Amino acid sequence: MPGAEPNRGLFVRLAEGISLRRLEEPCLYHRRADELYELNQDGLEALARCRGHLTLDEVGLDPEFEAFCLAEGLLSLSPEPRPMPLVLGPAPRPSLRYLELQITWRCNLACGHCYLGPAQGVDLPLAQVVTVLREFEAMGGLRVLISGGEPLMHPQWEAINAYLATNSLRRVLLTNGLLLDEAKAGSLAVDEVQVSLDGMAEGHQALRGPGSFEPAVAAARAARRAGLDLSVATMVHAANLDQFDQMQELVRELQAQEWGIDAPCPAGRLGDDAGLTVSPARAAEAMAHAYGGAYHGGGGGMACGLHLATVAADGRVAKCGFYLDRPLGTLDQGLWTCWARQRPTPLSDIVGCAECPAAAECGGGCRFRAPAPGLPDPVMCSLMGVTPVID
Ligand code: SF4
Ligand code: SF4
Repeated sequence: MPGAEPNRGLFVRLAEGISLRRLEEPCLYHRRADELYELNQDGLEALARCRGHLTLDEVGLDPEFEAFCLAEGLLSLSPEPRPMPLVLGPAPRPSLRYLELQITWRCNLACGHCYLGPAQGVDLPLAQVVTVLREFEAMGGLRVLISGGEPLMHPQWEAINAYLATNSLRRVLLTNGLLLDEAKAGSLAVDEVQVSLDGMAEGHQALRGPGSFEPAVAAARAARRAGLDLSVATMVHAANLDQFDQMQELVRELQAQEWGIDAPCPAGRLGDDAGLTVSPARAAEAMAHAYGGAYHGGGGGMACGLHLATVAADGRVAKCGFYLDRPLGTLDQGLWTCWARQRPTPLSDIVGCAECPAAAECGGGCRFRAPAPGLPDPVMCSLMGVTPVID
């Protein structure tokens, strides 16, 4: 037909790594960029028709919206139908966006601060990994943090890795790096590797043992060479306090897109080891070097962990790894059932937090690290430069 646009007869689907979510608002999720685009209901319904079985003409997107999606690479076109499944279940309120999945409690290190305590031969079976990730994805999940123990020590790691490639979640592997050589990095079906670096060589090894620093740095480099995003996680402790300027250079040189720095909590092997813990003020000084996003946050007047849950290798589900002794339930009851039992903490239940000028940024800090459930987190108060109001 004269004047007809050549693209109109092409079949359209969401591009690789793009998926739809019903969170508190309808959204489109860009897995590689880890970005959410809010949609209105019409936009959601229109994009839900882009499943590779209809042409652009048949889908009938608003022309301006269609041009935007094509220009941003959110849609892909093909001359033949390429049907794709649509995973778009209802989402709970609050939405569960981040899931820490401790697939194993095996570990090849015995770090002085590990909140799990001694390593154990407990693994989440492959079938349960698949079931929980399917449920998490259908609930609107965004990011799975595959942790341990050392996750690469799971006896079925290869099968887990193969499954990871098939879902729309952003996959982040949390590792100590000892098993992550070039070949392993090249085989990973994850978007991001998070390597633990707890100081320069001396500080790192004071916590993690001799010979653990160089492999961790090499693993970070291998992940970058394999084209994966890199983040670095650091624990502040007494033996790395003077190393944060050097670490800053290293982390920049490694091109980490995120540097998470945290202060230790008295749990697991750390107990109340005063030899490792540091004052809130010193911890805050070090934590000021951190950058990048986080997944522990609150929002809407609620404290931390508003969209986060942890699944342990023994199947318990909890608010986060520190709350495994107060589980929400077990995986055999279903993730949604467990999540529905979570009771977010209003900031108004924490002395001084609701009125705090830093509340929007801080969100009441870490509820586990706070000296009591109704008190502010002294580390975050130091970091925010706030004197907590405690009667
Ligand atoms: S208690 Fe601490 S570790 Fe747990 S979700 Fe809150 S900030 Fe994160
Ligand atoms: S800075 Fe302290 S008082 Fe303010 S919100 Fe954070 S924990 Fe609460």
